[in-house]
Parts: sequence; structure tokens; C-alpha cells
Amino acid sequence: MKTGVFFHPLFASKYWPIMGNKFIKFPEAMHKALKSENVILFEPKKIEREILMKVHRSQVLDGIKGKPYEQGAYLSVGGCVEAAEKVYRGELKNAFVFNVSAGHHAGRNRAWGGTYISCTGPMLKKLKETCRLNKAAILDTDSHHGDGTRDIFAEDNDVLHVCFCSSDNVDKSGTKVDVDVKWDTSDTRYLKQVRTEYFSRVRDFKPEIIIHELGHDTCSGDYGDRGLTKDFFIQLVKEVKSLAEDVCHGRYIIITMGGARPDISEYIHPPMIDILSQSH
Ligand SMILES: [Zn+2]
Ligand SMILES: [Zn+2]
Repeated sequence: MKTGVFFHPLFASKYWPIMGNKFIKFPEAMHKALKSENVILFEPKKIEREILMKVHRSQVLDGIKGKPYEQGAYLSVGGCVEAAEKVYRGELKNAFVFNVSAGHHAGRNRAWGGTYISCTGPMLKKLKETCRLNKAAILDTDSHHGDGTRDIFAEDNDVLHVCFCSSDNVDKSGTKVDVDVKWDTSDTRYLKQVRTEYFSRVRDFKPEIIIHELGHDTCSGDYGDRGLTKDFFIQLVKEVKSLAEDVCHGRYIIITMGGARPDISEYIHPPMIDILSQSH
């Protein structure tokens, strides 16, 4: 089975709010990774408003109408939903989804911080409706709290959402968790926290798919700097991929989240695609 990569040329051609022009050298920057016979490149289509309306109030969608980032957000979420269906149905083993203006700060009533519609909301809504998904586990390793994702799944105990940010908190159901990773951490310490706080919960929760909101704003020198090296991100993906192989038949989708530095994106994203496409 193959790894799907979802990328639209528009993502490289603009300067996006908060995330900047970090994909300016793509898809060329992942040229080698795309040469693998185990990788398929998809050009995403815009998500239908109808699906978004099941997640967001119309004011969220009306608020971005005609804005320069509207199309980027719709294409990004289109890629997320298509990836989710293909991975869940077994048409792809796993997927890497490029995203420019959607993500974890988009909640039911409000969206901000460079992410204007939700990625995970429409993905899981669609999987529940068309594929009878029961349980999913979201991992958020962006530097900032995933308030929008949390808001969307607040009352859904079939979604485990573990967010590595700046507070320690576990809700009554045990499915909504925040982990304080501190501002001055290290690769070793952060990875240890992910293993302790996410891996163990995922093994107990037994999700059918893992979705990773993966920001690199935590990288040293990026805007949410927590002192991590570039190699941290590659190791993280190796470990989460192996977890997904243990618990959910390898169903693992990475969505890019925060981070604005092109050099970091170019260093970490192509090897992540290599890792996803390797058989073990
Ligand atoms: Zn962030
Ligand atoms: Zn959080």
C-alpha cells in the first residue's frame, strides 16, 4: 500500500497568514521523496461548504469569504478529507497533507491564528458518516494550544485529543488532555512526554486512525520556539508511525500546522514522507 501526499501548487505561490511562504520551494523540495514508487502525489480539490457547515457556524465561513487565504484553506481541508477517506478505506496506507490556512485554531463559532477552518472536524465528520468510524486519536504537537479542535470535539468521547502545549489538564472523560511541555525543553524530554502521555493513552483507547496536527513552530528559531532541533520532528514521526502500525493497521495522517521557516519545512517534511512510505 502507498503513501498519499496532498499538495496544491497554490500553497507555494503565496504568503499565508502566520505560516508565511514556507512551502515556496515545494513540490521540488520533496522531489526525491516523490520518486518512490510507494508515494502518490494528489492535487487536492476544494472542500464542499456543505461538510464544513456540519462543523462550523456559517459566520466562520462567511468571515473568510473573498479573503486571500480562503481558497488555500478550502484546498487544504479538501486534501485532509480525501486523505482521511482513502486511508480509512485502505486505498492508502497513510498520508501527508500540506496545509496553509486551516487547522487547530478553528472552532465551531470562531477561527483565528492563521487557521480559518478546521482540518480534523470535517475529516472525522466525513469518516463517521460515510465509513462508520468509531474512534480516532488526534495528536497535536504544534507549539500552541489546539483550542479550535478541542472545541469541536468537546462533547465527543470517541475522539481522543492530546495536545502538547503550555498547561497540564485531563478532563473527566479522559479523552481531552493537555500536556505542558515547557518553553525550554529538549528533544529527549519532549519525546518522553509524547510516549508517556500519548502512546499509553492511545493503546488503551484503541482508535481506528491517528491524525497528527504537526507544527514545527516549536523548532529552535521558529515563532513558537521550544528549543527543539529539526531532527526531533523526524524521530517523532518514526515513533508515531510505529505506534499506528501497532494499534490501528498503520492508519496515520500527518497534517502540517504552524511554523513559518521554509528551511525547517524543507529539512523535515521530505524525510517524513520517506518514513511514511517505508514498509517498516
Ligand atoms: Zn502554533
Ligand atoms: Zn493544549
